[in-house]
Amino acid sequence: MAFEGLADKLSAAFKRLKSKGKLSEDDVKEAMREVRLALLEADVNYKVAKDFTKKVTERAVGAEVMESLTPAQMVVKIVDEELTALMGGGETRLVSPPSPPAIIMMCGLQGSGKTTHCGKLAKMLKSRGHRPLLVAGDIYRPAAIKQLQVVGSQAGVAVFEMGTEKPVKICKEAIRRAKDYGNDYVIIDTAGRLQIDEVLMEELHNIKDAVHPTDILLVVDAMTGQEAVNVAKTFDEKLDITGVILTKLDGDTRGGAALSVRAVTGKPIKFAGTGEKLDDLEVFHPDRMASRILG
Ligand code: GDP
Repeated sequence: MAFEGLADKLSAAFKRLKSKGKLSEDDVKEAMREVRLALLEADVNYKVAKDFTKKVTERAVGAEVMESLTPAQMVVKIVDEELTALMGGGETRLVSPPSPPAIIMMCGLQGSGKTTHCGKLAKMLKSRGHRPLLVAGDIYRPAAIKQLQVVGSQAGVAVFEMGTEKPVKICKEAIRRAKDYGNDYVIIDTAGRLQIDEVLMEELHNIKDAVHPTDILLVVDAMTGQEAVNVAKTFDEKLDITGVILTKLDGDTRGGAALSVRAVTGKPIKFAGTGEKLDDLEVFHPDRMASRILG
């Protein structure tokens, strides 16, 4: 299960704290050392882990303990609040344009789950009464268009494709079609590569300049930990993304990506992928994720 190691270690640290009754500053500091180690072992970015425990320590040492809580429970409460804040605080929605369609450009490395998540997002939007259109903008992998068509038919959502025509042209045509047919969301699947390279970035930039997406969502695989955070940082520097979809949270990810992406990039995680099926998509709620981590 995701976050298992982290959850166990945090719980052990808090158990020791709870056995103490009244807490000294040293008790809190010792517990935070354990929390920091647990975060590092969960592959959380070093600076993020350090800043996090510093902040919790400052708050916990100076805190007035609420009457209903023991000092240790107060520390856990502060950790819960700070974990939630670390992951962005509240839920972050898709951007609504003044007039439809909203244009969502999906990008990410190959294998991150980009095409699957185009389908998941389309299905979620459809279930909320919207009329999404999927766009096959990955023209390099022969199977990519077919894969999007399969996903589209499973989601009951139309797929616009123009074979191996230039991606910018495909996207422009798709948006024209969406306006004609009353689609209020256009979801563009773009090409991915095994690694970030200039050619890929230039193409994504060209699409961005041509269609002015309302959202640029980066799909990253949570299982890749800090690497996912590095990928997010690079894509954000090049494309100024509006958010992240964190996939494969159903696996045994240690949690580092979920906990560091927001702090490192400043961009919110908007959705979480929790399985291979099209229904396995959740709006990302930082508070619920924090509760899950704290067990
Ligand atoms: P793309 O190359 O980025 O378009 O990635 P795909 O959409 O083809 O997905 C790559 C693999 O990851 C496929 O086998 C998907 O079924 C799988 N996958 C995608 N999202 C998830 C997820 O949230 N959880 C799990 N367990 N597998 C996923």
